Amino acid sequence: MRAVVFETPGIENLKIMDMPKPKPGPGEVLVRVKYAGVNPVDYFTINNKNARPIPHIPGAEFSGVIEEVGPGVGGVNVGDEVVIYNRLFDGTCRYCLMGHEELCVNSGLIGVVTQGGFAEYAVVPTTNALKVPKGVSLDEAATLPVGALTAWHMLNRAEVHPGEVVAVFGATGNVGSYAIQFAKLRGAIVVAVSRRADRVRQALMELGADYVVTPDDVKQVINELSEGLGADVVVDAVGQSTWNLSFSIVAKYGRWITAGALTGGDVTLNLPSLYSREVLVIGSTGGTRAELRVLLNLLSKRRIRAPIYTKLDLERVKDAFDIMFKDENRVGKVLLTP
Ligand SMILES: [Zn+2]
Repeated sequence: MRAVVFETPGIENLKIMDMPKPKPGPGEVLVRVKYAGVNPVDYFTINNKNARPIPHIPGAEFSGVIEEVGPGVGGVNVGDEVVIYNRLFDGTCRYCLMGHEELCVNSGLIGVVTQGGFAEYAVVPTTNALKVPKGVSLDEAATLPVGALTAWHMLNRAEVHPGEVVAVFGATGNVGSYAIQFAKLRGAIVVAVSRRADRVRQALMELGADYVVTPDDVKQVINELSEGLGADVVVDAVGQSTWNLSFSIVAKYGRWITAGALTGGDVTLNLPSLYSREVLVIGSTGGTRAELRVLLNLLSKRRIRAPIYTKLDLERVKDAFDIMFKDENRVGKVLLTP
């Protein structure tokens, strides 16, 4: 089968190779990959010298059709359309029993600690293959497991209420483009923050943003909207480069939430600025299978939409990363089509 692989870390070392078609073991299914989302997590995997196995196939987000089921597999059949929940979990630890597979003590990400979806085929545990409902296409489904699920889980944890002012940093990205929609769905007043505000204003407003502003303008706009109080919720998965600004605009009793640190993870926190405002700082990572099911339902009911920017053949994997990181007009997901 055709696959994107690397043997030495580095985007420049990615190549297309003919790899053996994997065989599903007990409790596993073989998926013919139709669409694979490109995410920062793949970039970090490709640059990780500890990635295994080698040659390594990246790809932490994909959808496809079940082509073969392993021994002892029930509940799914050959021909089923599925989207892959990418967190491996044991199903037995305290967090799994709480329904929080994303915190499993024996966890890892498909495509990071196993072969991923930048290939014609991938083997995954049956418990990670969720059926795609009628009315949802496989390209739409492929946008959900990383950015959308992360954003949904963040807004659940931040408990966004109707009428609250929500600022979304990194608004054009895989997380941000969904966080805007989910905040709107919860009745919030959504301020999307992007360095490229002028170029992407239209696209972000179509996703539900009420205001699209640059980091230079966000403070003033939030102050006007809140009579100087600040944002009730700030969603910021950008990291180090936006922290000082994004934390400074949180209202008293507000929430600041992160699920990523694309620009670096080390920040300085002034404790009085935290306690005197009674700000909640919330961490979030991925989401649960139950939440992924909710997102599939929301898509099938057309309550949300999948922002797909472009689709490229596997051969163009390096272009895909260039577009994700550098394309000034990009809003939403870059998909690979094996
Ligand atoms: Zn567990």
